[in-house]
Amino acid sequence: MMQKLKIAIQKSGRLSDGSLNLIRQCGIKIPRMKGALKAEASNFPLEFLFLRDDDIPGYVQDGVADLGIVGANEAVEKDKNVDTIHHLGFSKCRLSIAIPKEQEYNGIQDLDGKSIATSYPKILGDFLTEKGVKCDIHEISGSVEIAPNIGLADAICDLVSTGSTLMQNNLKEVESIFKSEALLIATPGLSAEKKEIIDQLMFRINALQTADNNKYILLNAPKENLDTILNLLPGMRSPSILPLADEDFVSVHTVIAEDDFWSKIEELKAAGAEGILVVPIEKMIL
Ligand code: AMP
Repeated sequence: MMQKLKIAIQKSGRLSDGSLNLIRQCGIKIPRMKGALKAEASNFPLEFLFLRDDDIPGYVQDGVADLGIVGANEAVEKDKNVDTIHHLGFSKCRLSIAIPKEQEYNGIQDLDGKSIATSYPKILGDFLTEKGVKCDIHEISGSVEIAPNIGLADAICDLVSTGSTLMQNNLKEVESIFKSEALLIATPGLSAEKKEIIDQLMFRINALQTADNNKYILLNAPKENLDTILNLLPGMRSPSILPLADEDFVSVHTVIAEDDFWSKIEELKAAGAEGILVVPIEKMIL
């Protein structure tokens, strides 16, 4: 029987949509029944376990799941023996210390002797030790942002994405201590057969991520300035050049990193490029 990999993904919460989207964009079909805690892909050797995100590092360490998609915040906080295979680039956020808005803040030493409520005592503790600041860390598992308002702690340390939760609770961010994003983690020492399935999965993930960072661009270039325009467009190998009904122009098609494109747009226009179209790429294999 063919080996299958078990992958743990978050049952519900901030990571679950991103994780399921990634798997689906990889062309893997998940016939998920509402409320089911397990599912099997119909066209790829993957079995899914839908779990709480803070349980995922432990299950991956113990081999209950071979792979897991989890926030770096949980992976580092739980400090389990797992291999980080890849940074997935979604669910980006930061772990920050925040204090009541009206309080003055002149630097980390202002936190000395204060109590801080958090669900991340390890990451916070390591940060404070490194800075030589002593605080009373008050571990709580949820609704951390309410702590200063109810007199539970002087400050909080929690995940921040847009910052609106802090604002709603009259808090201001004073120290950003850790940057997080979704990670693909694996049980150390998997069999060669399982590693081969991971390679197949990674091939698809890389194709998606490369496509995401690049755009397909089409433009009309006056023949007399073609060399200048081509020099501005470093393509994958070399751009395609197609004739147009107007013999003074050609159509140029190429792939370019999105950032490069925006920095070159004025020069392209100055060189006479017209009718510029920028098209997203679904998958890109180099
Ligand atoms: P925001 O209001 O967008 O700054 O989000 C803050 C709230 O969402 C806090 O309750 C955080 O614990 C939670 N949060 C923000 N980003 C994430 C994330 N990537 N993973 C898990 N929880 C998050």
